[in-house]
Amino acid sequence: MVDVTISEAAEKLKSGAVVAFATETVYGLGADATDPAAVAKIYAAKGRPDFNPLICHIADLSQLDGLVSVDERARRLAKAFWPGALTLVLPRRPDCPVAPAVSAGLPSLALRMPAHPQARELLRLVGRPVAAPSANRSGHVSPTTAQHVRDSLGPDIAVLDGGPCPVGLESTVIGLTGPQATLLRPGGVAAEEIERILGEPLARPQDMKLESPGMLLKHYAPRLPVRLEVAAPLPGKQEGLLSFGPPLPGFAHVVPLSVSGDLVEAAANLYAGLHELDEQAGLDGIAVMPIPGHGLGQAINDRLTRAARGR
Ligand code: AMP
Ligand code: MG
Repeated sequence: MVDVTISEAAEKLKSGAVVAFATETVYGLGADATDPAAVAKIYAAKGRPDFNPLICHIADLSQLDGLVSVDERARRLAKAFWPGALTLVLPRRPDCPVAPAVSAGLPSLALRMPAHPQARELLRLVGRPVAAPSANRSGHVSPTTAQHVRDSLGPDIAVLDGGPCPVGLESTVIGLTGPQATLLRPGGVAAEEIERILGEPLARPQDMKLESPGMLLKHYAPRLPVRLEVAAPLPGKQEGLLSFGPPLPGFAHVVPLSVSGDLVEAAANLYAGLHELDEQAGLDGIAVMPIPGHGLGQAINDRLTRAARGR
């Protein structure tokens, strides 16, 4: 891995190269969203299926109107949650300068204004929208440290190290292309908080895969098998435990998500915990204690279900 400074990262992005950088959610693999050749490098580096659209990151609200059609709901959500872990999917304007590959050919564009101070400064220096999916090979667990990026994408990738990601989960994705606001992906902002600001319930599509192609079941798969809602160790197995609350006894290796049972803390530790257990020698599985389904628990359980099913 090549460590770069913030000004080097900005120069690289402006000249059409890809750079991994920290955001408050997970590390992103960025490229100039208006440069189709640069965007293609993201897909190549990730080994990502090309029907999967990317989130476009902006530094400033003034960039919004030149890219997409913004309605009252979008303005209200942006005001309440930006900068932060919320992505809005909005209709592209006919003259939208973002490469069609970022939208995977769809007439919509996913936009987010990140809160991480280093990411904000980087976006300001670049002065253009930056497309960035998570900085891992497609199908791997998302990176929440520079080392995770290194492990997944190899030594040649340029990385702007911003420390561990404080939220630790991808953004919540809300679709605003139809009459009803739709939860396309649960994430770092709880759906209940979004419904409170909107003043109406979010639609939950039956088949998220069709609505939001990034909801591929394989998306968050560790190498080891994952067992959920675990109340006791499996006899004869060497399992690692992701614990929530006081850890259960009898496991070979324990990584606490949150000893006090705090869902925000658990979200921040989720991917690092999966990475740690997945790399632990001698384990033959990952066991996860039950996580409540409210607040960030919805997004945590969504990722864990994918990790358990998607191998
Ligand atoms: P990632 O880049 O790994 O954080 O994933 C981006 C998420 O945003 C995926 O779930 C995508 O499917 C979703 N997404 C991005 N753009 C769109 C779009 N135009 N329409 C629907 N979902 C989108
Ligand atoms: Mg991803």
